[in-house]
Amino acid sequence: MDQVKKITYFDNNATTRVAPEVLEAMLPYWRDLWGNPSAAYRFGNQLAKDIEKARERVAALLNADPREIVFTSCGTESNNSAIQSALALNPAKRHIVSTSVEHSSVINHCDYLESTGVSVTYLPVEADGSLDLHMLEQSIRPDTAIVSIMWANNETGVLFPIEEISAICQSKGVLLHTDAVQVAGKVPIDVKALGVDFLALSAHKLYAPKGIGALYIKRRARFQPYIIGGGQEKGRRAGTENVAQMVGFGRAAELALANLKEEETRVRQLRDRMETSILATIPSTFRNGARDARLCNTSNIAFDGAEAEGILLLLDRAGICASSGSACSTGSLEPSHVLTAMGFDSTRAKASIRLSLGIYNTDADVDYLLHHLPEIVARLRGVSPDSPVRIPVSV
Ligand SMILES: *Cc1c(COP(=O)(O)O)cnc(C)c1O
Repeated sequence: MDQVKKITYFDNNATTRVAPEVLEAMLPYWRDLWGNPSAAYRFGNQLAKDIEKARERVAALLNADPREIVFTSCGTESNNSAIQSALALNPAKRHIVSTSVEHSSVINHCDYLESTGVSVTYLPVEADGSLDLHMLEQSIRPDTAIVSIMWANNETGVLFPIEEISAICQSKGVLLHTDAVQVAGKVPIDVKALGVDFLALSAHKLYAPKGIGALYIKRRARFQPYIIGGGQEKGRRAGTENVAQMVGFGRAAELALANLKEEETRVRQLRDRMETSILATIPSTFRNGARDARLCNTSNIAFDGAEAEGILLLLDRAGICASSGSACSTGSLEPSHVLTAMGFDSTRAKASIRLSLGIYNTDADVDYLLHHLPEIVARLRGVSPDSPVRIPVSV
């Protein structure tokens, strides 16, 4: 792998840079403090208190009790284990309610569960990516083991009204899991007010490293571990603790909580300036997803008559990182399942790119993108930037 020179990064929903403060916090644990936290001697077991400190910090980001936080290996594991636990503890309940726009870690897991005899209702979405809550209410059955609905969509940034979803699930007496991976650090989270049963987080979407996540499990809720082995995480998730990364996650959560308001405002301004300018200056462009009920950092835009693949390639040549849909589906020629679920045909889905900003983006980054993008789109459309005629060409 070449050393990365200068990149302009607009793919923060795929992963984020590790914050220097987070790296700093982890270094002692990589270098010197490498003991096993379950050991009988202090070199190991003194680390248990650092893990607990990290747990408190992650809990604080959610307004949770630290005892409600279980560290996992990633957001995917958190999502998988919440659903698996609900099924394992309710053997008579063989139905799941989810949506057609979930992250692959929910949707592909549910597809797999269907192959084992579980039935799944995938709620459809409207053209703006929103959910029909009446349909949610109607889809819950006596044999529904769990409802699993994401809080914010990773491709469009569209926010679901999790408070109302939670109220519906509570009134029906059914468990609710929410994938909040994209929400952490962008929207205030208060699990006590929400009343969700499970909530998934991933550290690498929050300026901490890949390979560490957390699952919030409501206090006194029954939980069946997914990874079975040693008694780590109070018997809820086996495997020797990833101390350095837990500490890093804790530091990232602390920073996110402290800077949330300020960053939300700043990133939203950058995103809005970028999006408004693209929609105004490049003809035949459309925003995918609701304008308002949306994360502060995400913009998903269709460029009629140009292919996302070509746009991304030419952006990459200019050192700009963006994506089409989710990182997991790039490389496959399938149109995004999220945009398809919103009712867009595959041409529009394949003409759409996602630009997701983060706390390290600057006005200069946006200016740089705005300088290159119109030219790139015009080139792919086979016209000069000012011409209204569009003839798509491939790169
Ligand atoms: C990235 C992401 C995940 C998966 O998290 P990993 O830690 O990469 O497994 C799950 N859900 C959403 C919405 C995501 O954006």
